Amino acid sequence: MTADREAQVVDQVPKQLFIGGEWRDAASGATFKVEDPSTGAVLCEVADAGVDDAFAALTAADAAQPTWAAHPPRERGEILRRAYELLMARQDELGLLMTLEMGKPLAEAKGEIAYAAEFFRWFAEEAVRIEGGYSVSPDGRSRFLVMRRPAGPAMLITPWNFPMAMGTRKIGPAVAAGCTMVLKPAQQTPLSALALAAVLKEAGLPDGVLSVIPTSDAGGVTEPLLTDGRIRKVSFTGSTAVGRTLLKQSADQVLRTSMELGGNAPFLVFDDADLDAAVEGAMLAKMRNIGEACTAANRIYVQAGVAEEFARRLGERMSALRMGRGTEEGVQVGPLIDARAREKVQGLVDDAVGRGARVLVGGGPGDGAGYFYRPTVLADVPQESRLAHTEIFGPVAPVISFESESEAVAAANDTEYGLVSYLFTRDLGRAFRVSEALETGMVGLNQGIVSNPAAPFGGVKHSGLGREGGRVGIDEFLETKYVGIAGID
Ligand code: NAP
Repeated sequence: MTADREAQVVDQVPKQLFIGGEWRDAASGATFKVEDPSTGAVLCEVADAGVDDAFAALTAADAAQPTWAAHPPRERGEILRRAYELLMARQDELGLLMTLEMGKPLAEAKGEIAYAAEFFRWFAEEAVRIEGGYSVSPDGRSRFLVMRRPAGPAMLITPWNFPMAMGTRKIGPAVAAGCTMVLKPAQQTPLSALALAAVLKEAGLPDGVLSVIPTSDAGGVTEPLLTDGRIRKVSFTGSTAVGRTLLKQSADQVLRTSMELGGNAPFLVFDDADLDAAVEGAMLAKMRNIGEACTAANRIYVQAGVAEEFARRLGERMSALRMGRGTEEGVQVGPLIDARAREKVQGLVDDAVGRGARVLVGGGPGDGAGYFYRPTVLADVPQESRLAHTEIFGPVAPVISFESESEAVAAANDTEYGLVSYLFTRDLGRAFRVSEALETGMVGLNQGIVSNPAAPFGGVKHSGLGREGGRVGIDEFLETKYVGIAGID
């Protein structure tokens, strides 16, 4: 990949705020820097929204809401369909842009563009299938007409780890439902969100329906909007700690909320499992996105009889991975997002080793510039280690052995999180029993990946509220209204 091509891709992205269909500087004129995590070099600067800009975006969303709600559903769907096609046509350049600001290997970044685009294709199809109902009251005297209405202007807040897909997963259903939006992307990855806004404008999204306001002051900019009264819906993806803060702020105006929060996924391998498939599944569940995924396998529980062999095979696969700048050919593991993330991962590994865990592979940072951490496998990890209770968000696979099914399920559920779990077994009875017993919103049964735009994604316990994707994804942006019709005697 040439430096010229990289510079060209960054140059093409608007660096201003997108408010009411226009690109503009922040009212204060402020900007902030965007960094390449694989080198620490500054890629560019983007406009830094303040409270005045945020209110301008909200005013645009509020003004556009009535006409947007009345916009024909077929046309709302066709805007999404065109945006899907534009994203796919630009998969290479948008993938490169994402690799530059976030660090993931180019093949994975391009994969995310396709995954992100698929939310638009899915919700393009859902826009024309918003249905209500008609029924007769039990006493036969009146009639009930049930209709679905857009929830109203929505505040969307997204994280840096999937900078494009976490945006389309919210924008897709909001457009389909007829909601206007203000999107605040993560400070570390604003470029993908700005490129997405440009694509949607080109696809014909009317002015004011979506505004995008990157900022270096997330809380300072979003709280006044949530407590203003004009926003009616908040959809957030990010950490549980920030999710709790937003839930408290949303209470003031009794806002509808969707919360896609942190995870601590258990990955269970029983001794009757196909061990090759389990190792393959663990590689996917652990290493997708450099381990920086809410769905990442955080604790790998393996039945005692196969634990040693599983850890050995996993170690072999992990040590063969190629680490480097995501733009380089053949690289499978990019850098972590920043120095703080790398220190956190090292602290968790040190804690486990201090409690008796054995390092089979890796165990420390990469050499040179950038925030690299080597793919790591730890064996004999005690359940009381901090990493068994903390979202690692890095390429570290702790293997913990267990004796019985009930012990494995109890350990898996010993967490406040409940996003996803993985289960490898060839015993059908056990597959159903354990799937039902695991306290998570999603289960990967003999597979290491669950994310799919056509499936309802989301967690229970402290992993969140609501679902994104699937048939129910649009419900998060719709209200139910019923009209009672007087007697027809
Ligand atoms: P984060 O720190 O919670 O940030 C997420 C977003 O919230 C960013 O846009 C951030 O802005 C913003 N934010 C931070 N503090 C805020 C505040 N006080 N008020 C309003 N917004 C605020 O999470 P992250 O580190 O970016 O992302 C990683 C987390 O996301 C992990 O816990 C991961 O599990 C979770 N995640 C969950 C899912 C899911 O679907 N369940 C998917 C992906 C990621 P700044 O960037 O400016 O701080």
